[in-house]
Amino acid sequence: MAPYNNYIIVVLDSCRFDSFQRAAPKAMPRLGEVERRWSYASWTAPSHFNLLTGLLPHSSPKGVYASEYYKRDFLKFNERFGAADFEFKSLVPKLYLPCFLQERLGYRTHARVSLPVINPKTILNQGFDSYQLMEKHNDMRAMVKGMQFSPERPSFYLLNVGETHYPYALPDESPDEWPRISGVHGVFKHLDDEVVGGKLVSGEPEAFFDQAKLKMLHDRQIEAVRHVDRVVEELFDLAPPNTYITITSDHGELFGEDGYFGHGPIQHEKVYEVPFVEGKLR
Ligand SMILES: [Zn+2]
Repeated sequence: MAPYNNYIIVVLDSCRFDSFQRAAPKAMPRLGEVERRWSYASWTAPSHFNLLTGLLPHSSPKGVYASEYYKRDFLKFNERFGAADFEFKSLVPKLYLPCFLQERLGYRTHARVSLPVINPKTILNQGFDSYQLMEKHNDMRAMVKGMQFSPERPSFYLLNVGETHYPYALPDESPDEWPRISGVHGVFKHLDDEVVGGKLVSGEPEAFFDQAKLKMLHDRQIEAVRHVDRVVEELFDLAPPNTYITITSDHGELFGEDGYFGHGPIQHEKVYEVPFVEGKLR
């Protein structure tokens, strides 16, 4: 049997904490207590870089120095990997989890991503045996179907899941049916099409902040969480028992609060608010 746990990080792109809670998922909370945490960044690329340095969304603790928090937070990787002596300085000098897992612990390391801003040509690709931008931006099931685990070597997977990203579309929904917000592009053919968000400036078309439409978009993200929960259940069935899974988001999303939509160039509590749940499969 592999000396360490398989470790999977599932990132539900743009999934806000309250969307996760309102979806009332059945499978994901089986891993452990669902926490509200905070992402270190408000959009996809820096947030994934941060995750891959080993700093998962934080709990915003008061009365503690950042260095002390990092030290404690890194010790949790011992539980995740099933190791005994991992600490922050284990990652020196690269400070990059995939490199450490591949070079030092002998993991096979894989990334399956949905968003072009973290495609295989970006510098995030270091330390991965395989790194793939999925054909569709919203098909977690295709990722799960391609996952393989070896009895000899532990596997690490980063799954960047796009169903929860704007336009919150399930894989069987035709792109013709996707909701459109004027001025916001959500089709992922080109990098510059990726929505990052924006704020209403007085005088702009009011269609941008149609409240009914924003509620509909929020409801679609909630529905996307329910769908992803069913796929996570398939992942639970497929992964060997010695697998540790962390499920979280790279950032939240604004649905009209204080005049904002989306994520990215937004300074608002809701753009950092993410779900966090983790545990080992039994
Ligand atoms: Zn993102």
